Amino acid sequence: MPGDRCPTGIGPVDQLLGGGLETDGLTELYGEGGSGKTLICLQAATRLALDDRWVCYIDTEGVSVDRLEAIAQGRIDQVLQRLLLATPKSLEEQTKAVGAACALARDTKRGIGLIVLDSATFYYRLTLSSDSEDDGRLALGRELAELVATAIGSHIPVLFTNQVWRNQRTGDLEPLGGSFVNHAAKTILRIDRLPGARRRAVLLKHRSLGEAAAEFQITSTGLS
Ligand code: ATP
Ligand code: MG
Repeated sequence: MPGDRCPTGIGPVDQLLGGGLETDGLTELYGEGGSGKTLICLQAATRLALDDRWVCYIDTEGVSVDRLEAIAQGRIDQVLQRLLLATPKSLEEQTKAVGAACALARDTKRGIGLIVLDSATFYYRLTLSSDSEDDGRLALGRELAELVATAIGSHIPVLFTNQVWRNQRTGDLEPLGGSFVNHAAKTILRIDRLPGARRRAVLLKHRSLGEAAAEFQITSTGLS
């Protein structure tokens, strides 16, 4: 149903999102390296998998099985049985993986509960300032458009991560991809690094909630 929420299992993040990820839109996580974007993705995927839902997980970074095992807390076999993992090695392969995930999600018999794309912009970033920059922008745009259509058409939450660049004029860290990515995501969370294991999630955009923030800790078993 439109308006439904899909809990990530991370208490402070779910509270911030009014219960969890919206099921008919894209949620973007952006933040600097080590801020915890991948952990949030892994934890959300684990929660869905342990709930016996299928998860299409597109990983461009080389996901840490040790980390997944720690988050699964003794139930890694059950989690792996429900993860449909794609590991594209180029932007072209990423586009194909997104297409395959969307096709599976549209097939209602499959019962896909979540699509994760971590990160959406790793390969895209490599095209910037090169001859293939326009192709990169087009590919990213098409992927996000297909994910938006799938999320809305099949009421499936889509979680994607985005990298940052330093705006030399303002000194701020900004998400890659500009306004197109900004518009494609109906929910945007910026993840800030605080001292030690502390992190802060800032809700910058949401269809039905105002700006807010929540803190959490990175622990040996994920996020708390
Ligand atoms: P990137 O943009 O580089 O992909 P990210 O935002 O996805 O970064 P994560 O990989 O989710 O970041 O976060 C890793 C963070 O978790 C790092 O700050 C790291 O120090 C911390 N970390 C990794 N393993 C452990 C552990 N076993 N116990 C506590 N903290 C850990
Ligand atoms: Mg990551």
